[in-house]
This record gives sequence, C-alpha cells and structure tokens, in this order.
Amino acid sequence: MKESEIKKQWEEIEKINKKEQVKILKGAEVNILDDGTLDYEDELLKKLDVVLIAVHSGFKSSKTKMTKRILKALDNNYVNILAHPTGRKIFQREGYKADFDEIFKKCKQKKVAVEINSDPIRLDINDRMILRAKQIQVKFSMGTDAHTQSSLENIKYGVGQARRGWLEKNDVINTLSYKQLIKFLKK
Ligand SMILES: [Zn+2]
Repeated sequence: MKESEIKKQWEEIEKINKKEQVKILKGAEVNILDDGTLDYEDELLKKLDVVLIAVHSGFKSSKTKMTKRILKALDNNYVNILAHPTGRKIFQREGYKADFDEIFKKCKQKKVAVEINSDPIRLDINDRMILRAKQIQVKFSMGTDAHTQSSLENIKYGVGQARRGWLEKNDVINTLSYKQLIKFLKK
C-alpha cells in the first residue's frame, strides 16, 4: 500500500472505532528489504498500532546473510510481530535458511512476538520450532494470513499447531485483553 492509501484506510478505521463496539487496530505487514531495512519509514511506522515484518524475497540467500538481514530488521523499535518466520509453503517451497535461535533471542530481547501463521499452506513456524522458541521465552501471535473473510476460519489450524508446540494461554498475545495488548504493542 502506498502512504496515501494507508492514510485513507486509517480514516475508515477511525470512523468505525468511533461508532462500533469493536476496536480495529491500524496495522501493516512491512517488507524486510534485502539490506534488513524496512519498506516504510519510521515516521509512518510509529503511527501504526501494530507492525508486522516479513521476508518476501531473496529466499536463496545464505544462512548468514538471511540471519543478519532479519536481526537488523528486528532492531527497528516499531516492530511488533515477525510474520511467517521461515517463509515455507508446504509442498511448494522450503523455508529459507537462517539461525532461528539467534532470531528468537532477538525477538525476546526486543519484545517482538513470533507469528504462528495459520494458513494451512504455511503453518509457519512448525511445532518443533514453536517449542524451541517457547524455551527461549518469546511470545507468539496467532495469525490467519486471511486475504478473504472465509480464511479467517484457518485460525483453527494455527491453534492446533500451537498445541503441538506445547503453547499455553500465557504464551500467546491474542489472549490478552485490549489494554494488555496495547501495552505489549507499545513496548
Ligand atoms: Zn507475508
């Protein structure tokens, strides 16, 4: 989305938040560029309630380069969630190589939640990595990656995945109250 488009979206969100009982957060999934910088400026990021970051390119990079790239992106103070952390798509492509212990440690240090992406093609991260990240004491964010209303139901696959990784309520930021969630997001 261009900056002008996202600002239009914010106006819509503000209208709904005034009128309705639900609260919609202003958020975006932002690309981690090749050099580890993000494709929105900090000026824009700081106005968002929730910032997800993700790799969508350069999957064939070396493990060292990919690790450095993601660690650098996690250093940005406006980042809240690392989305679909390995990039794998089941039966379509392997995830990229990176040192995920280092990445999860950085997530913990920077209070960034690790996404469990519930799209049945992704299920990213997998159960063993979930358990590993839990041992490093990161928080998790359950996401559907929904591009349509019907795929919101995919959350059940993510919940199954989280259970296979031994997660409990306290590990998952989706279980927080609105107030607690905002506190987590503001770091
Ligand atoms: Zn994505």
